[in-house]
Amino acid sequence: MPTLTATKRPTKRSAGRSAPELIFGDLWEYDPAPETADPKLKPRYDLFIGGKFVAPASGKYFDSINPANETKLAEIALANAADVDAAYAAAQKAFTTTWGKLPGKERAKYIYRLARLLQDRAREFAVAETMDGGKPIKESRDFDVPMAAAHFFYHAGWADKLDYVAPGRKVAPLGVVGQIIPWNFPLLMLAWKLAPALAMGNTIVIKPAETTSVTALKFAEIIQDAGLPPGTVNIVTGFGDTGAAVMNHPTAVKVAFTGSTEVGKIIMRSLAGTDKNMTMELGGKAANIVFDDAPLDQAVEGIVNGIFFNQGHVCCAGSRLLVHEPVAAAVLAKLKTRIRTLRVGDPLDKNTDIGAINSKEQLTRIEKLVASGVKEGAEMFQPACKLPSKGYYFRPTVFSGVSMSHRIAREEIFGPVLSVLTFRTLDEAVEKANNTAYGLSAGVWTDKGSRILKLSTELKAGVVWANTYNKFDPTSPFGGYKESGFGREGGRQGLLDYCKLV
Ligand code: ADP
Repeated sequence: MPTLTATKRPTKRSAGRSAPELIFGDLWEYDPAPETADPKLKPRYDLFIGGKFVAPASGKYFDSINPANETKLAEIALANAADVDAAYAAAQKAFTTTWGKLPGKERAKYIYRLARLLQDRAREFAVAETMDGGKPIKESRDFDVPMAAAHFFYHAGWADKLDYVAPGRKVAPLGVVGQIIPWNFPLLMLAWKLAPALAMGNTIVIKPAETTSVTALKFAEIIQDAGLPPGTVNIVTGFGDTGAAVMNHPTAVKVAFTGSTEVGKIIMRSLAGTDKNMTMELGGKAANIVFDDAPLDQAVEGIVNGIFFNQGHVCCAGSRLLVHEPVAAAVLAKLKTRIRTLRVGDPLDKNTDIGAINSKEQLTRIEKLVASGVKEGAEMFQPACKLPSKGYYFRPTVFSGVSMSHRIAREEIFGPVLSVLTFRTLDEAVEKANNTAYGLSAGVWTDKGSRILKLSTELKAGVVWANTYNKFDPTSPFGGYKESGFGREGGRQGLLDYCKLV
């Protein structure tokens, strides 16, 4: 348990990056409570191809930086086209000779083993994830790692029951699939991509994001320990060029991408005219809609969870708050009070709510969009929390008086920044919520079941949460409308995207 000390926050804080409002001693400080488990990192990670760690053909490596303190965490191999070819050759061999030939009940045992081995090393993976990506340890420890294990357990359960995925039809694996994942949930996105593909009997070439490759490569150790046939899963690391080679490779019969809409469009353009199957999970600009009959304190907690925890690095983040006019002032006041208590700082500290922004580039992007909000006339609120002197950090930020034309209301910020808009009628709320190029998720807060049902039909979003936010489960399909992409991950629907019907 963290100990409370008698020192209150100093009365004056440095103005920091963006001249926040100063608060006078309204929060008790906790003593530091850093997580100390050993993340067991290697100084250098090679590519994982054909069941072995192999040096990249070019001999080149790049640094993975800990965004919390800007120190080097490890060196990561830079894969080129020759490495990607080798990965696909290994995956093709495993598909035609080993993994692709195993019956579902045998595949289930391996996938179950992956889940168990990840659970055994859960704390180590949580620390590594936090050091690599900057998210608070309580997020990686209580959400990312357990949820990643849950995805493997769930799909292990499906592997011998695939006749029920498409009742009345038989299913067959597609072959070798190419996958790309982003930096916001590095291990969890790996699990979302690998587990259904493996359960169906496909083999895989996957590329993690360049800023967060470490837990994928640690997971390669688990793949070895579980004894998966060599080549079943191959992990290549690198930047956009490596990603393009993975997506465009002729051996890939299906590609699955999670990342920005911008890169998703590049991939779709390059694959237009080919017969590859494709699924895309792209950006979002979710609306969290609060009606006047909502339980306001719970709603405020849901809003905070939806955008501030995890630094807003969530594609389904509730980055727009649509609040019913009669309660707008009350909600804003409660929100400001709550935000003043959020702890921003060392991600390894168990009390930290908002950790480090994943990279310098992302911090710069957030700063630019926030500056545009101020320039366009929205009113900005930031609490006076102190930020560490090293590392990439950003204060939780609330903009009120936002209009639909503001950039902060339209563009994905991917940071702890909330834009507050108001509405008077349900129709206006729907109109504003749907007035976006995206359609990944939405939230509704109201006492009335009828409103929830109406909104969940009318909101053009893949997920609509009611009186809660950011809740996930492996049984529940996740995916977008419009520019948020297509295809589903999780549940029976997610499996359908990794098979052909025969
Ligand atoms: P974000 O994760 O910030 O939403 P990106 O879409 O840039 O961002 O990155 C997601 C993943 O896509 C990363 O693994 C990245 O290396 C990869 N990537 C970037 N550019 C390309 C490209 N042109 N083709 C394929 N993959 C790419």
